[in-house]
Amino acid sequence: MYKYVFGPVPSRRLGVSLGIDLVEAKTCNLNCIYCECGGNARTYSERCDYVDIEVVKEELLKALEDVTPDYITFSGSGEPTLNKSIGKLIQWVKENTPHKVAVITNSTTLNMEGVIEELKMADVIMPSLDAVSEENFLQMNRPHPTLKASDILEGLKKLSREYEGRIYLEVFITAGVNDTQEELKKFADYLKELKVDGVQLNTLARPGAVGWIKPATFERLEEIRSYFEDRGIEGVEIIKKYKRRSQLAGYSRKNESLILNMLSKRPYTLEELEGVVGKDLHKYLEILEAENKVKSVYRDEEFYVEKL
Ligand code: SF4
Repeated sequence: MYKYVFGPVPSRRLGVSLGIDLVEAKTCNLNCIYCECGGNARTYSERCDYVDIEVVKEELLKALEDVTPDYITFSGSGEPTLNKSIGKLIQWVKENTPHKVAVITNSTTLNMEGVIEELKMADVIMPSLDAVSEENFLQMNRPHPTLKASDILEGLKKLSREYEGRIYLEVFITAGVNDTQEELKKFADYLKELKVDGVQLNTLARPGAVGWIKPATFERLEEIRSYFEDRGIEGVEIIKKYKRRSQLAGYSRKNESLILNMLSKRPYTLEELEGVVGKDLHKYLEILEAENKVKSVYRDEEFYVEKL
């Protein structure tokens, strides 16, 4: 049974990704209103060894016997850089597998001593930034009390100065919360000074941690992209739906534990799962439902599959 490695995740940004979760479920220093993993009971601020990395290595080598990912991605249902062994594990992956490494981070630890040095062997870092003002940071991210938006802004600048790989910054837009004209101007002023390879606008694709939030429409994301571009920010794009299904098709029941671990991180839509499981998805789900391993739920005009 897999506990830390999950996938193959059909990532909208990285193609086929094999995920590694370096913390226990929902171990995060933020409690974002849009979090697809649901709300946290508490937030964590310490960097420590949350999981046994020798077990992670064993799981990864086993999963790589069946899955050929575009990236091995440190992400999951919490903040991966809270694990203080992340640097050692990235180095181990680079030395023991032929795969590229991506790190998805909420950016909160980047200004802490040594964190950027630990991430330097990753090929891609995808940090996120949801707010520039302290007020919006509290509203969007509901952080641990030790965290400030200004520290995140400083950490991202440090990353763009010191890290030599590619950086794609994600800005997650929640309609009516962080897309006010005032906040967008602050974003534009900040992003103009930040050197990254791309700015990716994203919005809610699945239910978040609170029920009242709304995704931004595609038209609104286009307006925001034009607004940023008019202010000299380059490489702004709207994240598109995942397309490369052929690479994902053909995974069968032998990868069930990996797929169930993926579903334990967050719900997936039927469309996404069809890409992973292939045309026999419905037959496969019937079996898993009969075995009480998953359930299908209808929410926001879409069917989602959740692990039980
Ligand atoms: S969205 Fe990411 S950063 Fe925010 S609470 Fe969830 S796991 Fe943490």
